[in-house]
Amino acid sequence: MAEAVRNLVIVGGGSAGWLTAGVIAAAHRGAQGDGLRVTVLESPEVAAIGVGEGTWPSMRDTLRRIGLSETELIRECDAAFKQGSRFNGWVTGAANDYYFHPFALPQGYTETDLVAGWHARHASVPFADLVSFQPHLCVRGRAPKQATTPEYAAVANYAYHLDAAKFAQLLRRHCVERLGVHHVSDHLVGICASESGDIAALQLRAGGELGGDLFVDCTGLQSLLLGQHYGIDLVPQCHVLFNDSALAVQVPYAVDNAPIASQTTSNAQQNGWIWDIGLPSRRGIGHVYSSAHSSDDAAEAELRAYIRASGGPADPPPARKLSFAPGYRRQFWHRNCVAIGLSAGFIEPLEASAIALVEFSAAMLSDQMPANRAMMDMVAGRFNEAFRYRWERIIEFLKLHYVLSRRTDTPYWRDNRSAASIPDRLGELLELWRHHPPSRYDLNRVEEMFPSASYQYVLYGMGFQPADAAARSRPEDARRAEGYFREAAALTGRMTAALPDNRALIEHIRRHGLTTI
Ligand SMILES: Cc1cc2nc3c(=O)[nH]c(=O)nc-3n(C[C@H](O)[C@H](O)[C@H](O)COP(=O)(O)OP(=O)(O)OC[C@H]3O[C@@H](n4cnc5c(N)ncnc54)[C@H](O)[C@@H]3O)c2cc1C
Repeated sequence: MAEAVRNLVIVGGGSAGWLTAGVIAAAHRGAQGDGLRVTVLESPEVAAIGVGEGTWPSMRDTLRRIGLSETELIRECDAAFKQGSRFNGWVTGAANDYYFHPFALPQGYTETDLVAGWHARHASVPFADLVSFQPHLCVRGRAPKQATTPEYAAVANYAYHLDAAKFAQLLRRHCVERLGVHHVSDHLVGICASESGDIAALQLRAGGELGGDLFVDCTGLQSLLLGQHYGIDLVPQCHVLFNDSALAVQVPYAVDNAPIASQTTSNAQQNGWIWDIGLPSRRGIGHVYSSAHSSDDAAEAELRAYIRASGGPADPPPARKLSFAPGYRRQFWHRNCVAIGLSAGFIEPLEASAIALVEFSAAMLSDQMPANRAMMDMVAGRFNEAFRYRWERIIEFLKLHYVLSRRTDTPYWRDNRSAASIPDRLGELLELWRHHPPSRYDLNRVEEMFPSASYQYVLYGMGFQPADAAARSRPEDARRAEGYFREAAALTGRMTAALPDNRALIEHIRRHGLTTI
């Protein structure tokens, strides 16, 4: 039971497999090559899922940790900057119905109660537009940094939009050439279990067996190790979040130098929503919907109508259909097998949390790497608790976007507000938030997936009414809040003037690169 963990085998070479390999190899390979041996097994027969183009600001830290240059990322992954999300049509479906969930915190967020000040005197202005400069940067097509800002540093907090296939290729090359990761291109056909029940080795179609001490299941939705071999089932979430289907397509810009949006746009539809992600060379667009509420044909017709109305080609290429069962595994780490990525679960891509979960999982696995088999079960228990908590919070946060909608046009929107579909904890918090805005008391872990500021952006962006904001507002809070609102407006002016156009900066980086630190 005390054998050292020396051989880590990652099965799967999608974004999850290579990100995990990079994070672990960068931390554990050992200066003299005496560290942990990291191997990635990737099937030449099964392609990676090929979607997953929206990331979180955490990606900047992850890539820096791996030692990848930001210039290389921008050049090789068709990457662009993402400053948050814009939600169109989620509240009423009217033409002027929009709100932003930017990545930057509100000005003065930890200093005073901005919500009471907003509600008492500025309720006609969208919350995020009052408390943050970032929605204005997005609307004006500004980049989140300047050409002279060093790699990974930000003027305004940002993440990336990128080509998922190119991202996995770049990570693979970096991991193999610079981090000493071993790459095995072969197809897993069976699993050899030891007497204890641990995985001893993997049987490969062409190359015999691949042994290891710890196995990371990054095999995508199939979950070959944790799900299929160990039978760890999904905790289904289709009663809370109904979307289980997506139609994805890539379309060209009408002209080569068209502006690149620096936010993901999420456009509510009759039975789901459409993402629109701008990369330098194309847009990635997809309709996520509930198969219980819409046929594929109806969803495709809505997608094509959206593409045409938003300046895309009149006759876009056929969309690719993806299906998933919304849910997460009952355990993520069982015996000597830990699942990261789609193999651990998937809930619809609203707010793009899946790759961020991969980053958090890889970081915890790397930081808490068990020294030997005897330590593994304890680390596994902590890992399982940490990620169950995260999945539950993600589900509540995504559900919030539906619960607060006032749309009545289809059963989809009405069903989404049925009491039976709302998690208990979310129902309680919504009661509480009528009297106190979301705060660190509601979300008190050090690394919450969504901080309380994100809840505020969505709640008030969707018109949630505090019960007694006027009574709660103390004059000195109101005065300080006014100061922060003015500060946000002043920053908007200064940043708009100082920051380059989003496409112009990306083209500059492609030609000249960014400063390294
Ligand atoms: C419609 C949709 C939209 C999404 N949008 C976003 C988004 O905007 N942001 C975000 O963060 N996430 C998004 N996601 C999730 C995101 O795509 C995934 O989290 C991410 O791509 C990681 O996938 P993966 O590596 O776990 O799985 P995959 O990409 O499916 O990779 C699986 C790997 O396993 C290998 N494999 C399979 N079988 C075998 C075998 N027998 N032997 C050896 N190897 C094998 C394959 O070769 C492949 O390399 C989206 C998902 C969907 C479905």
